This record gives sequence, C-alpha cells and structure tokens, in this order.
Amino acid sequence: MLTYEDSPQEADFRAALRAWLAGHTPAGPRPLGGPERAAFDTAWHRALFRDGWMGLSWPADYGGRGLPPVYEAVLADEVGAAGAPPVPHSAFLGRALLHHGTAEQRRRFLPGLLSGEEIWCQGFSEPDAGSDLAALSTRAEPAGTGYVVTGRKIWTSDAAWADRCLLVARTDPGAARHRGLSALVVDMGEPGVTVRPIRQANGDEEFNEVLLDGVRVPAGRVVGRPGDGWRVAMTTVAYERGPADIGFSSRYARAIRRLAGQAAHADRPPAVRRAVARAFVHTEMLRLHVLRSLSARSDGAPPGPESSVDKLLSTRTEQLLYQVAMDALGTAPLLGDEGPALFDYLYSRAASIAGGTSQIQRSIVAERLLHLPRAR
Ligand SMILES: Cc1cc2nc3c(=O)[nH]c(=O)nc-3n(C[C@H](O)[C@H](O)[C@H](O)COP(=O)(O)OP(=O)(O)OC[C@H]3O[C@@H](n4cnc5c(N)ncnc54)[C@H](O)[C@@H]3O)c2cc1C
Repeated sequence: MLTYEDSPQEADFRAALRAWLAGHTPAGPRPLGGPERAAFDTAWHRALFRDGWMGLSWPADYGGRGLPPVYEAVLADEVGAAGAPPVPHSAFLGRALLHHGTAEQRRRFLPGLLSGEEIWCQGFSEPDAGSDLAALSTRAEPAGTGYVVTGRKIWTSDAAWADRCLLVARTDPGAARHRGLSALVVDMGEPGVTVRPIRQANGDEEFNEVLLDGVRVPAGRVVGRPGDGWRVAMTTVAYERGPADIGFSSRYARAIRRLAGQAAHADRPPAVRRAVARAFVHTEMLRLHVLRSLSARSDGAPPGPESSVDKLLSTRTEQLLYQVAMDALGTAPLLGDEGPALFDYLYSRAASIAGGTSQIQRSIVAERLLHLPRAR
C-alpha cells in the first residue's frame, strides 16, 4: 500500500538531513551560468556526496546508500524547503551504466560520477536526429581493438566542463536503424573532441555543439553489447524523464514558496493569489506523483514508458509556475536565489523540449500506455 507519510526511519532521515542542510546550504546565490555555475554546482555535488546524501537509492558497492527510492523524494523535498541548490541531475546517466554496464565499467565509472569528481554529459541528439534519435549518423568504426568515432552532436548540456560523455553512435550501418547503434563512454579530453558552447535565449551557455573527428575509443568503453545502443538510450531517457531523478521537484517547491510569499502581500489583486494557488496545486500534485512513481520503482526495475507521464506533469508544472511568476509579478528578481524571473521563465520554455519533447511524450503515453492506434 502506498503511504505519503514518513515511516519512523524516513522521519529520522529527514530530521538528520534538515539539520545538515541548515549548516551546509551555500550562503551566496547560485551563479546564473557559465563556468562559475559549473564550479558552484560541482562544489555542492561534492559536499552532498561527502556527507552521504548522494546516491541514496544506489547500491553501496558504487558509493550509494542502498536505501529505497522514496528517500530520493525526501531529499528533493528537504533541499527545496531549505532553499538549497538543486540536487545534481547527472545521476540518470549512471543509471544506464548500472543497468547495462559491465562490473568493470560500473567499478570504474560510477563512484566518480556519483561523487562529482567526474562530470558527465549526454551525447545523444544530433542536428538531424532529436525526436527521431534512431536517425543519428555519428559513426563508430572498428579500428584495432576499439573504435574511431566521427560525427556531430548538439544540445549537449555541460559538455564544456564534462570529463566524460555517454554517447550513442552507429556501429553497424547495414543493420536496421534501431539495431545498428551502440552506446560508448568517450573521454572529453581525447584528441578530436571539440566543444563549441551555444548561447541560449536566457544568456546561459549550458549546452554545446560537440564535434568528433576520429576520436579513439577502446572496445571496453561500449556499454552493453555492440548493437545495444537503442536499449541503453531508452533506459537513460526513462530515468531522465522522472522528475525525482533530475531533482527538479526541489526547484519548483522553492519557487512556489517564494512566489506565495510575494503574492501574500496585501496589495496583490485576488487574481494573482488565485493564479499562485493554482500553481501551488500543480506543484503539490507533481510531488505526490513523484512519490508514487518512486514507490512503484522500489523493486529495482528500471522505469519504462510511464516516465513520460512524469515528464509531462513536470513540464506543465514548471511552465505554469514561471508563467504565473511573470504574469503576476513581472521581471523583477522575485524568486530569490535562482535569479531574475525572466531567466527562470525563459529556461522553463525548454522543459517541453529537453529530454524529449511533449509531443513525443504524448505519443508514448498514447501508444505504449493507453494502446491507442498509431497515427498514420
Ligand atoms: C535545455 C536542453 C538541454 C538539452 N540537453 C541535451 C543533452 O544534454 N544531450 C542531448 O543529447 N540532447 C539534449 N537536448 C536535446 C533534446 O533532447 C532535443 O532537443 C529533443 O529531443 C528534440 O529534438 P530536436 O531539437 O531535434 O527537435 P525535432 O525532433 O526536430 O522536433 C521539432 C518539433 O517537431 C515535433 N516532432 C518531431 N517528431 C514528431 C513526431 N513523430 N510526432 C509529433 N511531433 C513531432 C517535436 O515535438 C518538436 O516540436 C537538450 C535540449 C534542451 C532544450
């Protein structure tokens, strides 16, 4: 049976975490972008890991605590309530290695990813392969005992400061398009890797174009078997689409608290208060839905197409929240430590694209969960 109240163990955990956050939440604002924000996020990531708050539901063998997944939701809750920076979201890439990697790959890569000692990025999208990922054309050709990778990736978040990339490339051009793909771990410092930052509408340069020109990758860096790339990619995006995995619920919780504080001022018209109340209801619904998703995951099985529901709810909540903030309160700095409202509002528009667009999530829900006929 599902319960939304803490068990005694969860309550103890929550109290300990709350005390830790009171003493360790960074005092200054989170920088809005660039290497300053990367350094700030990395320091926060390492502090969380050092004191045992990262990888709560990960196996202890790889630096985790082996707790039930619902503890991840408690973490997101408390981080949001404390106004602390978001929980680092790169863990979803590690989930792919947990499910598909060899024992050697897990030992080699997971501790660094979890601790924040190594920054990872996701090299899936290409200029002509986004929603239709199986159309990708980056090639990984056998060479000696490994592969040589050539191609072009785009929208690669954090690539400018990443140490490694989980990349999908075509290893068998003769196979059916979903079957000829493989997932590889590429070191970003290898000769032939060029990263070009892309400036976004909000002024940030979070994502990048990554050019791969004859990059050597040892055979031991293939995740899963050669030809398993599609399966590895689908596991990765299923985790990426769960709001608890990306730690966004904490961002929304923090934003709605600030917004409610602003709306409570006596001079705010009733329409503003109603809009904020509606955004609050969506945020709360999302929080409860995340708890339910995580409870369903407690048997250790990877999430499947149902994570598209999480993604749609999360996107709707984020966009509504920041739209209300803009409509109600204008562009003044109002959400506090996340920076000016305009920055957050602009970023929220990307929520219906990043990690797979809302149209694609609706098709997944229609076809794979509701079993509706495919559109012709
Ligand atoms: C902030 C942000 C961060 C990102 N980070 C990364 C990253 O780190 N790594 C990475 O690999 N990628 C990343 N991406 C890329 C993201 O995964 C893609 O942008 C997304 O999958 C859409 O692909 P596309 O941009 O090529 O759009 P397209 O696939 O060209 O889609 C264009 C439009 O057509 C619609 N459309 C396409 N096909 C269909 C269909 N079959 N049915 C209905 N509508 C359809 C789409 O919904 C969209 O509205 C990021 C994107 C953003 C915005």
